[in-house]
Amino acid sequence: MPVADFKTYSAILDRARSGHFALPAVNVTSLITANAVLRGLAESKADGIIQVSTGGGAFASGSAVKDMALGATSIAEHVHRAAERYPIYVALHTDHCLKDKLDKFVIPLVEETEKRRAAGRPNLFTGHMFDGSNLSLGQNLDIAEKLLARFAKNDLVLEIETGAVGGEEDDVVGDHSAKLYTTPEDTLEVARRLNPIGGRYLLAATFGNVHGVYKPGHVKLRPGVLKECQDAVVKKYGDGARFYLVFHGGSGSTQAEIHESLDYGVVKMNVDTDMQYAFTRAVAGHMFKNYDGVLKVDGEVGSKKVYDPRTYLALAEVAMAERVKQAVADLRGNGKTMFGT
Ligand SMILES: [Zn+2]
Repeated sequence: MPVADFKTYSAILDRARSGHFALPAVNVTSLITANAVLRGLAESKADGIIQVSTGGGAFASGSAVKDMALGATSIAEHVHRAAERYPIYVALHTDHCLKDKLDKFVIPLVEETEKRRAAGRPNLFTGHMFDGSNLSLGQNLDIAEKLLARFAKNDLVLEIETGAVGGEEDDVVGDHSAKLYTTPEDTLEVARRLNPIGGRYLLAATFGNVHGVYKPGHVKLRPGVLKECQDAVVKKYGDGARFYLVFHGGSGSTQAEIHESLDYGVVKMNVDTDMQYAFTRAVAGHMFKNYDGVLKVDGEVGSKKVYDPRTYLALAEVAMAERVKQAVADLRGNGKTMFGT
């Protein structure tokens, strides 16, 4: 199916929240990893999200160019074409973008969508994230308000973050002393400022999350924080104000923690680190198993069949697709595609 349009994506998110399941949002940096996500989703009969970070976009544009918006555009254009061959819906998001990178990443991509819409073509991306979690809540929402007003006119979904996620993702390093738990007061302020604007936004409200790698026990996830935020917003603004939540920094979380967060309105879960490992694990296996074929050892010529990058990248694609299937299952998404409904 083509990339989900705004109306379809909205219906998918509504159904996910009421059905207590979520879509995996998988970071990709290449055609191969994008194809892995499409394959994994299709084999799970599940809709999902393909996501490009600032670093992923820069990487995809080529190491001599390093233009984050250019690389993100290339990946999105590939997904628009390739997704037509899979019987599921996919949405295209961009990941964490700090204030000082908006002009180099999100804004050019929004401008591209505006240009396309003016020519009667579909949006380039379905949604973009602005990460103002390193700012004061007031400054964060000042920027979010302006973006949401522009996004609402263009059928783009905005994702924002309140509270800070610990750890590291791309070049975004969390402050260890930062506030790891959003408060109901923070999220009431989000609703007060953003809900009158219209459009559609997703909220990554942190509840002890840490980006990147950590060993079990390092983090105290408290999904109950999400329930407190939802209860507070519904009490003050009614059920229509209930949030669509995003789970960041979830690699290594237990199934119980994930399921509890789904029950409180998480509709999107970012998965990056676990996918990176699944991909690299397959490549490493191939290299270790075929050591004297991938290398020219002791004057030998190696084996073209095993050093052809397609050989190990195809293994990596399949391994990552399997990890996508696991993510879908963890998020109770098996068989839930809206394609054909
Ligand atoms: Zn985050």
